[in-house]
Amino acid sequence: MPYQPRVFAGVEVVALCDAVGPMGAAISRPLPELFPGGSFAADEEWVLHFHCHLLRAPGGTVLVDTGIGALDSPASGWAPVPGRLEAELAAVGVTPEDVDVVILTHLHSDHASGAVVNGAPAFPNARYVIQQTELDWSGGGLMRDRVIRPLKDALETVHRTAEPIPGIRVALAPGHTPGHQIVEVGDLIISGDALLHEAQLADPSIRYLYDDDQETAVKTRTALLNRATVLATSHFADPFTPVRSGDTA
Ligand SMILES: [Zn+2]
Ligand SMILES: [Zn+2]
Repeated sequence: MPYQPRVFAGVEVVALCDAVGPMGAAISRPLPELFPGGSFAADEEWVLHFHCHLLRAPGGTVLVDTGIGALDSPASGWAPVPGRLEAELAAVGVTPEDVDVVILTHLHSDHASGAVVNGAPAFPNARYVIQQTELDWSGGGLMRDRVIRPLKDALETVHRTAEPIPGIRVALAPGHTPGHQIVEVGDLIISGDALLHEAQLADPSIRYLYDDDQETAVKTRTALLNRATVLATSHFADPFTPVRSGDTA
């Protein structure tokens, strides 16, 4: 079931849990500083939540990220498919047709695969907001073929910052991927994969192996924690994480 909604600057924010499962065996030593010494052992199992966020604003209904998708998703090699996003949306009375804007934080398979169903946009009335830099990078051949191509006519590319719906802003936050973006609603920052693990709250210099540019990711993470009040992350167990600004300076 969806989490209890919270309201930020007049926008209702509902965290939706698409899936919960361990970081796939195909991925080893994802946080080298935190889990040194070889492969990611069973007793160090890292269980990820896969969250998407529904924003109900006066100007429209927005979905941030689309989850891991169907059984045959590009994420199926490592993530616990299928995702249950559609059921989570239905539980709060939202049909795919109701979504006006989809914001894709980035093109990794656990965030963008649910954007397409059976070769067509999963949210047929939505425009899909993505950073131009991310589209240029494309997330690899599989994502280009399976996600970007079917979305082609519905894509709306932005450069650095934009406000797709009044009160809902996106901003480029690179490092995890070249065109990774965050979403800001009042005091809330929906941070995508700028942070992967809770340990990075106290120490944003902890690297994540699959950050595209680890140095830039550390800078982005540090800057974000220095100005954030509340975070909504993709993969933490808690839907909302309070942050005391300045702790990480
Ligand atoms: Zn990612
Ligand atoms: Zn992710």
